[in-house]
Amino acid sequence: MLIVKKFGGTSVGNKERILNVAKRCIEDYQKGNDVVVVLSAMGKSTDELINMAKDINPTPSKRELDMLVTTGEQVSVSLMAMAMGSLGVPAISLNAFQVAMHTTHRYGNAQLKRIDTDRIRNELEQRKIVLVTGFQGIDKFDNVTTLGRGGSDTTAVAVASALNAKHCYIFSDVDGIYTTDPNKVTVAKKLETLSYVEMLDIASEGAKVLHNRCIEVGQKFKIPIITKSTFNNKAGTIIQDKIIEDTKVKSIVKNDNIILVNLKYENYSIQLFNQIYNCLLDNGIILANFINSSIHSLDVSFTMKSVYLNKFQNILETEFKMFNSTFSNISRIAIIGHGIMHDDKILRQTLDILKINELEPISLETNESKIAITFKEKISNSILEQLHTKLIV
Ligand code: ADP
Ligand code: ASP
Ligand code: MG
Repeated sequence: MLIVKKFGGTSVGNKERILNVAKRCIEDYQKGNDVVVVLSAMGKSTDELINMAKDINPTPSKRELDMLVTTGEQVSVSLMAMAMGSLGVPAISLNAFQVAMHTTHRYGNAQLKRIDTDRIRNELEQRKIVLVTGFQGIDKFDNVTTLGRGGSDTTAVAVASALNAKHCYIFSDVDGIYTTDPNKVTVAKKLETLSYVEMLDIASEGAKVLHNRCIEVGQKFKIPIITKSTFNNKAGTIIQDKIIEDTKVKSIVKNDNIILVNLKYENYSIQLFNQIYNCLLDNGIILANFINSSIHSLDVSFTMKSVYLNKFQNILETEFKMFNSTFSNISRIAIIGHGIMHDDKILRQTLDILKINELEPISLETNESKIAITFKEKISNSILEQLHTKLIV
């Protein structure tokens, strides 16, 4: 059988952990399986590389930044091949160029187009464990690209699909997907299974646990994704479409990495409005909750991920100096589960908790599988805990 496994940064963070992963993969190999392993960069090394780049140039070229950060994954796969070699098992590391992992040209956020499988298959036929760099690709001019932060998950599911694997394992420091981040709420419970739509909502709302695009790839090619822990053998969570109908809150995500921006200017013009929007889009800054609350002047509010803040402030400084701007750190909570819109009790209970805690939402969105609330300020984990107790436990 062909087994595709992905291990994240924490799982390969030091020598002992690399050897632990090597041994786990060798067990599969010694049972006669073909084993393909996708790896992320060790520990926090991607952050360290980005800091090095910014230290030498605060606005580095996107091409050179991708060239730099992809070295992190190359360190992991080559060390892993050496670790496996030291344990007497033949292994080969391959980067995106060697595999031929084709992506679009967009540095920092490229999309996978096609993965050639010949090289991987040849190496497997020679009974080697194949170690593939996650997160990276090559564009049509052979430039190195990256898939966006956390993108190794997407590499892994795409490799599993290209090789027609039955499923894709994603190993990390948690033994599955929980009813909320177990590092924020200790009573969070592990889920046995989730649909692709539910998992996509959880990931897109900012739970770090899986890269949202890996779920889209899994859904498209019907690859079940099994999340497990690198550090124990407990059963994990399987993401697939099995349950026909269900109305239940599965998971709650609280995202604190959001900024509420307000821009004011005495004159309103649609040109100015479009200019702001287009300028941000050109710079890869994605906005949500965009509202202009006056028709006489410009009074625009919107939210964006905190990671965009520095870049956004630079743009304001250079292109829109005339604006009066304010920034606040805020939170968003998303309650996720199929069909929850059909059970008004869930929305009522949620609003009750907001009322008791005197919290004022700035927006409330609902759809078939999600209730999402954005707040005016940062909210504490105790609110998450109260919602969790009421809606899940
Ligand atoms: P890796 O580095 O292996 O890619 P990540 O750090 O990206 O792993 O993802 C694992 C982390 O996701 C956990 O440490 C946990 O804090 C966080 N997380 C957030 N929400 C959830 C959730 N609902 N279930 C499990 N883990 C979650
Ligand atoms: N090393 C990359 C990052 O830190 C990719 C990944 O971990 O999946 O974002
Ligand atoms: Mg990750």
